[in-house]
Amino acid sequence: MIRYNKWCQLNKIHLCAVFCIMILLLLPLSVEGSSEENRIVLGPHFDVFHDSSNKVTIEDLIDGTYDQNFIPSTQKYAFFWHTTDTIWLRLPLNELIQGNTSGYLIEGIDKQDHVNVYFVKEDGTYTFQEGGIAGLDSQPIRYRSNLFTVEEPDVQDVYIALSGELPLMFSSILYTNKSFLESVMTYKFSIGLFYGFVLALMLYNLFLFFSLKEKAYFYYVLYMLSFLAYQATMNSFDLELVGRVFPDWLLFRTLPMSCNLLAFFMILFGKEFLELKKHLPKHNRVLNIFLWLTIFALLSVFTVPNLEAVNNVTTSLTVIVLAFLWFSGLTMLLKGFKMARFYMVGWTVLLGSMLIQGFGFLGWIPFHPGLYENLPAIAACFEAVFLSLALGDKINLMKKEMNNKLEEKVQERTKQLEEAKQRLEQLANTDRLTKISNRMSLDFELDKQLQEAKTNGTPLSLILLDVDNFKAVNDQFGHQVGDMVLKETANLLKENIRKTDMVGRWGGEEFLVISPNRETVEALELAECLRQHLEAHSFYEVDQTTASFGVATYIEGDTHKSLLSRCDKALYDAKEKGRNLVAVQKLL
Ligand code: GH3
Ligand code: MG
Ligand code: MG
Repeated sequence: MIRYNKWCQLNKIHLCAVFCIMILLLLPLSVEGSSEENRIVLGPHFDVFHDSSNKVTIEDLIDGTYDQNFIPSTQKYAFFWHTTDTIWLRLPLNELIQGNTSGYLIEGIDKQDHVNVYFVKEDGTYTFQEGGIAGLDSQPIRYRSNLFTVEEPDVQDVYIALSGELPLMFSSILYTNKSFLESVMTYKFSIGLFYGFVLALMLYNLFLFFSLKEKAYFYYVLYMLSFLAYQATMNSFDLELVGRVFPDWLLFRTLPMSCNLLAFFMILFGKEFLELKKHLPKHNRVLNIFLWLTIFALLSVFTVPNLEAVNNVTTSLTVIVLAFLWFSGLTMLLKGFKMARFYMVGWTVLLGSMLIQGFGFLGWIPFHPGLYENLPAIAACFEAVFLSLALGDKINLMKKEMNNKLEEKVQERTKQLEEAKQRLEQLANTDRLTKISNRMSLDFELDKQLQEAKTNGTPLSLILLDVDNFKAVNDQFGHQVGDMVLKETANLLKENIRKTDMVGRWGGEEFLVISPNRETVEALELAECLRQHLEAHSFYEVDQTTASFGVATYIEGDTHKSLLSRCDKALYDAKEKGRNLVAVQKLL
């Protein structure tokens, strides 16, 4: 119960953390929405022209030769996927900004090969700025997105030419300098929170790995690291950080590279976490194949020149891997493995976000830059927390299972010990030859019965018997036959006493019967009965053997020693009187 409460608390803390992050991540969206007049989403204001010849120049466009080819855009965020056409976008800037156009700024968020921007004035003259990866070196500041500043005060139209290997898109916003600064500040703040959160969680899990030595934690850390790399390339931080160091062809391929790495570590983590090798070997084999496929896909990023094919293969493979890992989790859950609970929640969130992202790219739902800017980040936060919870949950369950096993083992050992103790006790109290009680046991029982007789005043009688001329038996028939006689005597005595009586071997060929609740007369009767039984019995080889009996009954003031001594004397009397007799020690 205590553990359960602790668990609930842990859940609440994690969930609170997630909600805080969510709110902080959504904050910039609302801030952006509030200063609407200072930022204009340009998508709906574009006219679009697909130049399949790739030969049209800006002069041709200014001439008006292709005016009839421009079609008003219907997309909020211009998106064209892979195409070999040059896409021309025309923006009537003077219609959006009444008056002085200088000091305005256009941001194109997407990673592109070539983005050529022409600011055309009414007289047909123009200025040119180069963006995209091709124009990285000419960018005034290192920033993740393409920035184009409107320098002239009287720009009429802006023409933007998109071309290259990467999917063509131009999610663009028109800012004043001030509103742009504001947007950068809120963006950096929220994205910093996201990376900080994931990084902290990653370090936390790394420490857990070092202390718990559980491999799943290590793979989880690698998986999160690859997720950070993937998200960073999604946010084009590679351009900002290493854009001027990496060659262009590598910058084109950072996304499929990080995506394949992500799939690779995802598989490693999923396999290890769900212990598929042990629980679902078939799933494990399929995932091993996927593991190799991601390696091949990663190699193909560097070897296959067709980037569209690489992107398609990578995206499909990652979605299939993710779906399969989700399916494995579901199978485990249905099989009753509790540890898959949080794993499934995390994976479902991620799968959902990936599907929405995929639908956006495929055009099944309206494309929005938030699909790759905010959505994966939010989903990743959720997923990271739930997978952390899943790991914790798993360790907890493992601990419980181990505790149960340990308890079972302890119980088993205790039982074994108890049995061994009983065996030992029996061994200690039993005479090895005759298998009846030994002298130690008789002493113990006699003390007990004496105590009873003293406190309750109940009678207690003893019968001490000694086999007659036993030495002669040994001498005549051998020691082994003598042993047989002792065994048979013991059996005979055992069979002819009451359940409440106790018989044991007093030593050598002497036996003692402790008979509680029996007066002298009854004890004499019993002794006589036993004597007759022995006399009548035909012993192995020896045939007839007799014994002499001494009887004594407890009287007030008797001790262990005095009672036994009277009994011994009675036996001596019986021997004296000619053996095969019962004698009682008369009180003086
Ligand atoms: P009595 O009628 O006066 O008792 O004569 P006895 O021969 O029985 O008495 P004694 O004390 O002279 O001899 C007892 C013999 O019992 C001597 C000893 O070797 C034998 N004995 C004692 N313990 C064992 C045993 O465990 N096995 C065998 N076979 N003999 C034993
Ligand atoms: Mg004797
Ligand atoms: Mg004897």
